[in-house]
This record gives sequence, C-alpha cells and structure tokens, in this order.
Amino acid sequence: MSELRIHLSAFRHNVATLAAIAAPARTMLAVKADAYGHGMLPIARAALDAGADSLAVLEVPAALALRESGIRVPLFAWLHGADTDFGAAIAHEVDLGVSSRAELQRIVAAADVGAAAVHLKIDTGLHRNGASAEEWPALVTDALAARDAGRVRIAGLWSHLADASPAADAAALAEFERAISVAGELGVPLDGPDRALLHLAASSAGIREPQARFDLVRFGIAAYGVSPFDDVDGPGLGLRGTMTLRAEVLTASDGVAVLDVGSADGLPPSVLGASGAGAEVLLGGRRARVIGVDVDTMTVEATSETVAGDVAIVYGPGDAGEPSVEQWAAWAGTIGDEILARASRRVPRVIEP
Ligand SMILES: *Cc1c(COP(=O)(O)O)cnc(C)c1O
Repeated sequence: MSELRIHLSAFRHNVATLAAIAAPARTMLAVKADAYGHGMLPIARAALDAGADSLAVLEVPAALALRESGIRVPLFAWLHGADTDFGAAIAHEVDLGVSSRAELQRIVAAADVGAAAVHLKIDTGLHRNGASAEEWPALVTDALAARDAGRVRIAGLWSHLADASPAADAAALAEFERAISVAGELGVPLDGPDRALLHLAASSAGIREPQARFDLVRFGIAAYGVSPFDDVDGPGLGLRGTMTLRAEVLTASDGVAVLDVGSADGLPPSVLGASGAGAEVLLGGRRARVIGVDVDTMTVEATSETVAGDVAIVYGPGDAGEPSVEQWAAWAGTIGDEILARASRRVPRVIEP
C-alpha cells in the first residue's frame, strides 16, 4: 500500500524557525489548499503549538471548519465568491479580506450580528484582487463610514507580493507604504490599541526582506519545508521536509519494478517530459530511476534483489537519501507547492506526532 506520512514535528520545527526569523512581527500560517495537501486540522493545531498566532485560509468555509473544530485564534479569509456567507463569518469572528467597495458593501449588509473585522487590500502589482491606487481612497472612506456606523472594525491593511523580482517587490513595497499613509490621512488609526494591522509578506519576503514584515508575516510554503527561492533549498534555510510518500513494489522482474502510486495519486507524468528524464525514487537503499508514470502505477529501475512487497520512498525529508519534494518539482518543471497540494486524498495519510 502506498502511504503519505505527515511529519508534524518537522512542521513545528519549521514554524518555530520562521516565527523566530519574523519576530518581532507575528506569524500567520497559511493552511489553504488543505494545508498544502497535508490535512488542515492537524496542521492548524501544530502551527499554533509551534508559535503561529493566527491562521490564513482562502475562503470562509475553511475558516468555519477551523472554528467548528474548536480553534479560537484569529482566522483570516480573503477570497470570496458570490455565495460567501459573510453573516456566518462575522458570527464566528473570521477576519475578512476586502478587495473592493462592492465586496465591502456585501459585508456591511451582513453585519447585523456584530461588526465585521475587515482587512482592506490594496493591489500592489499582482493584479489578482485588491483595490487599485485610484479606488483605494474611496474604499477606505467607505470602510471608515461603516466603522462609524458600528458595522465594521478596520482590523488590517494588507497586500500580497508577486515575488517576481527584487525590483518589482521594492515597487510593491513603496506602493503599499503609500496606501498606508493615504489610509492614515483619511482617519484609519495606525497607532494605539485599535490600530490596523499591516501585512504584506509571505514566505519569500518574510525571510529575506525585513522591511516588508510590518506587523505580521503570512507564511505558507516555507513552513512545509519548501524554499521559496531558486538559489537555496529548504534544508539550506534550516527547514525540514514535512511529507514522505512511500510506495510498495507490486511486481519486480527483469530489472524493473512496478510501484503502487501513479499520476492519480498526484505524481506528475511531466517528470518524464523534456525537462525531466531524471526523476528517481529510493529503493533498496539506492536511488532508482523512474521509467514510466501511469494513472495507478509507476515503473522504476530495480535490482535482482528487488521483490514484491519492498517499499520505495518517492520523496521525503531526505534522511535516508530519498529525493526531496523540491527535487520532484524540479524534475516535473513545477514548484514544490504543486507537488504537495497534488498529493491525492486517495493515498492514506499517517500523521506522525
Ligand atoms: C498562499 C498565501 C500566502 C502564503 O504564501 P507562500 O508564498 O506559500 O508563503 C500568504 N498570503 C496569502 C494571501 C496567500 O494566499
């Protein structure tokens, strides 16, 4: 049987390492995409044990699931659809990212149960969502009016960096600072106990750009052991792999073994494409080259000693010499996030404390 082992102790180590880097800024841990394929609830609890003080999801339903499981820390949801239940979010004290005046209006309309905690988003160049510099003063003014009417609390001002290049990040940082001063001039408190929290950085800027940390850093991929940089890997940043994919040999003969994981389990067939042709697994204590990836199985080179029932490690932290998630991402011509998040729910997960 194939199996995914989730290493919570490695994850906690990563969160503590990142929280120490970010301090005195606080650490918000992103648990979107089912905690990058690891399983949201155990990862959320481990993040809080290790020093994160808030959690980010994409959408309100995931935040409500966290509340339902008894998690009481601040939760931040920022991607809203036409059917998002803002009333439930407000009732369960989920902080809401707000990208436009129309979105703010919908939140204000739902705020009968109490004031909504809103984080106003300025678009600093990613062009995914957020108010443009032109729309920003009107969004802030609307939010201040809603605050005065008791329907919202302006809990934060935020944006997201594209990590496109140092020059682009510097321009985005300047744009963010301009938006903060505009908001301050319009009356958003930037000092004192009721001040709006400022947040911009995710893993990459959180690690390398101290001036982008502001009040809190929203760490994602780095906490899962994968470096956000091209020039250094996770272990090079002091991070540990948090997931191991093991697969069993179904048959072995003529120097070829068939393993019971395939593309339907999340392995990218592109490892055999133009950029690939180098993918390996660990089998019998040595690296074995991948020959084929099918829907349900993968074929690898084997030795004459390989027998059915042997266990191969596809990827993991590297302790036994197995490839890392980052190596698989490089072979597949993608990023580590995708390897992790693609890990299929049909592979049984074993959560290691
Ligand atoms: C995913 C996400 C993060 C974390 O990003 P990483 O690059 O994985 O650290 C932070 N903030 C927001 C808004 C996100 O969607």
